[in-house]
Amino acid sequence: MAWDFETDAAFQQDLDWMDEFVRTEVEPLDFIIKTPYDLTDPVRQEILPPLQRIVQERNLWACHLGPDLGGPGYGQVKLALMNEILGRARCGPTVFGTQAPDTGNSEILAHFGTEEQKERFLQPLLRNEIVSCYSMTEPQGGADPAVFQTRAELDGDEWVINGEKWFSSNARYASFLIVMVVTDPDNELVKSQSMFLVPTDTPGVEIVRNVGLGYQTEAQDEGSHAYIRYNDVRVPKENLLGPRGGGFGVAQTRLGGGRIHHAMRTSGRVQRIFDMMCERALSRTTKGELLSRKQMVQEMIADSWIEMEMFRLLVLRTAWKIDRYQDYRKVRHDISAVKVAMPTVYRSVASRALQIHGSLGASWEMPFAKEVIESFHMGLADGPTEVHKVQVARRVLDQYVPCDDLFPTMHLPKRKAEAFEKYGDVLERHLGGL
Ligand SMILES: Cc1cc2nc3c(=O)[nH]c(=O)nc-3n(C[C@H](O)[C@H](O)[C@H](O)COP(=O)(O)OP(=O)(O)OC[C@H]3O[C@@H](n4cnc5c(N)ncnc54)[C@H](O)[C@@H]3O)c2cc1C
Repeated sequence: MAWDFETDAAFQQDLDWMDEFVRTEVEPLDFIIKTPYDLTDPVRQEILPPLQRIVQERNLWACHLGPDLGGPGYGQVKLALMNEILGRARCGPTVFGTQAPDTGNSEILAHFGTEEQKERFLQPLLRNEIVSCYSMTEPQGGADPAVFQTRAELDGDEWVINGEKWFSSNARYASFLIVMVVTDPDNELVKSQSMFLVPTDTPGVEIVRNVGLGYQTEAQDEGSHAYIRYNDVRVPKENLLGPRGGGFGVAQTRLGGGRIHHAMRTSGRVQRIFDMMCERALSRTTKGELLSRKQMVQEMIADSWIEMEMFRLLVLRTAWKIDRYQDYRKVRHDISAVKVAMPTVYRSVASRALQIHGSLGASWEMPFAKEVIESFHMGLADGPTEVHKVQVARRVLDQYVPCDDLFPTMHLPKRKAEAFEKYGDVLERHLGGL
């Protein structure tokens, strides 16, 4: 089997164009547009759609999707290389039609949606005419679906939903919510919950508050992660997404892609932080020499580069495996490994960059404090690190068998006895006895 780490020349031209476009047109928007998800913001509406049209004309729009859904279907390896560039700017994914959580939500709509659901929810979502929200985590716990309490009961032709959800990102901007709800509490856990499409303006959808990340300053109003109460929210039977009791399956379909796409963008984001760190090390002098001449600073730079490269290769190989097998279940543990590595690399590089910048690094005049918090986001959303480590360990251990002897298979005296058994006659001949 050939191993090839090169990008084909034609696609490299696309990447070079993207790199320049994101640098000059998109990165500055981080200072201009409050959030790319607020479609009521006139500044956002004036600037983003024309940029999106340029991307569409270059056939680089919604590259996570196959041609049947309006994307070019480049596959995950190319998507990884593109997402590295897009991850540098907050508005990057939206300008290229690959923003989370809409990407994951569109994937499950494409997979499980009826024709009517696709027409009503998926098509406008793919065109970024609307924004969506995934509402699963509950206030009493997100990492354990066994504690979910939000219930739906059938009343004639309608489902009536009651309960609370926590950290439903972008609900305040979304046209619809995809909500995971207990419908069949008597079934075994994995068959007890279902997914619903709930238009945000349905009576009874109450945003209790919008929570932000990190610490709140006077200037900040609200965050974008909603604490939502569903009070007798009625949706028609047709708004069930996927089979009744099939919520876990739908969630898994969504999360596989979502996790690896986050990782691709994180790779680019971390590279950007690293660039800042290197520039500072080469620019700041203390005690008569540049920071870059100090061995402990060199250690930080070397460690960061090595961790980033290992992470990037793991992401790219996982992307390659997804393209190869076309089945997320076969790469679940690879994705879990990526998910575990992601916050660690992100946090350590961002923390070192902060440290190397000194007081400036800790201030709000540099992005590092925000990046450190963001690294925690990557270790929590879509399942906390611990849960993914368990997944990796289980899969790895599945490939081993226990030793039924008191001493391990590789116990040295045992190995030595086996070697002597095999080659003892040679030793006998040459050395005249053991
Ligand atoms: C920025 C951000 C955006 C998010 N967006 C969304 C969204 O749009 N929609 C949505 O539904 N949810 C969203 N979430 C919620 C996310 O899915 C949950 O935070 C996650 O599932 C963990 O749930 P929890 O926060 O309730 O933590 P808990 O379930 O209370 O877990 C707390 C901690 O306990 C430890 N832990 C948990 N399980 C285990 C275990 N099995 N073994 C060992 N230790 C364990 C971990 O350290 C974990 O972080 C978002 C979270 C963040 C931070």
